[in-house]
Amino acid sequence: MSMKCAVFPEKGGAIKITTVPIPEPKDGEVRIKVMACGVCHSDLLIQNGYSTSYPRIPGHEVAGIIDKIGKGVDNFKVGDKVGVGWFGGCCHEVNACDDDDWVCCAKGKACGSSYDGGYAEYCCAPHDALARIPEGMSFEKAGPLLCAGITVFNGIRNQHVKAGSLVCIQGIGGLGHLAIQFAKRLGYEVVAFSSGADKEALAIQLGAKHYIDGSQPDAIKRLTKMAPMMVVITGPSKKAVESLIPTIHVGGKLLLLAALPEPFSVDGTALLSKKVSIVGWPSGDSRDSQDTMKFSLNNGVEAMTETFPLEKAVEALQKMESGKVRFRAVLVMKQ
Ligand SMILES: [Zn+2]
Ligand SMILES: [Zn+2]
Repeated sequence: MSMKCAVFPEKGGAIKITTVPIPEPKDGEVRIKVMACGVCHSDLLIQNGYSTSYPRIPGHEVAGIIDKIGKGVDNFKVGDKVGVGWFGGCCHEVNACDDDDWVCCAKGKACGSSYDGGYAEYCCAPHDALARIPEGMSFEKAGPLLCAGITVFNGIRNQHVKAGSLVCIQGIGGLGHLAIQFAKRLGYEVVAFSSGADKEALAIQLGAKHYIDGSQPDAIKRLTKMAPMMVVITGPSKKAVESLIPTIHVGGKLLLLAALPEPFSVDGTALLSKKVSIVGWPSGDSRDSQDTMKFSLNNGVEAMTETFPLEKAVEALQKMESGKVRFRAVLVMKQ
């Protein structure tokens, strides 16, 4: 029995569509019939050599139905609707896991990197990597919540910034358009900060109360006057981090959710004088994914998606890379 998939044949090699045998679940794993899989910027890391072995099928926003159970799995059954994000299981032994902090486990696995992911008709995953998809949520909408969604929701909810505070969301892309929705529904007043006047209407529609066009000369001055309690970085911009830190309220924080391609510098007095801190948050584990999906369904948070059939994975990846997808590309498998 064989299946269609999209695979990086070797480090640095372009992705290609091919046919491989359907995988069998090992002990502790389940096999998922993939119904949808989001396309994430981090999938390009796999192309660039992040994975330990090749060929590798990428994809870590996997949503589907369990169709086979490996030995030793008793908490899931055939027919369950589940998702797998970047967190792909861990050892539950070393110190990180002892503290219940699965996502920081030094021996943690990543779906679509440590093992084959969801750019395929089937994939296998360990049971601790599975998040249940709530009844009433489509696979297409679940996919992007498993990386983009959890990254912003779990990052923001763990900062313990009081509801009612002003929160600035920088960037209105795949992460940012979800961050605005989550922040608003978590009880914050949201100011969206992006480049260009054309994004204002969308930002307001997503739940922002204010919009600041970062390309305007008075943008930083305006935000400084508003003094957000938290600035959330969702677009990978060194300049944004450096220029937004001084706008933060006394005792506030900068939350870094996007990986920056280069180091940034900070004027220490900007932190000292206002007790400002800089924090990062590494997405979350399968339990956080489950919370993200449940919260989204209960509060009407939804990713804006553009769908592609699996056969068009190459085009989907290219379009995402060139920044032309508004806002999240999702591969949807044929039934
Ligand atoms: Zn991702
Ligand atoms: Zn561990």
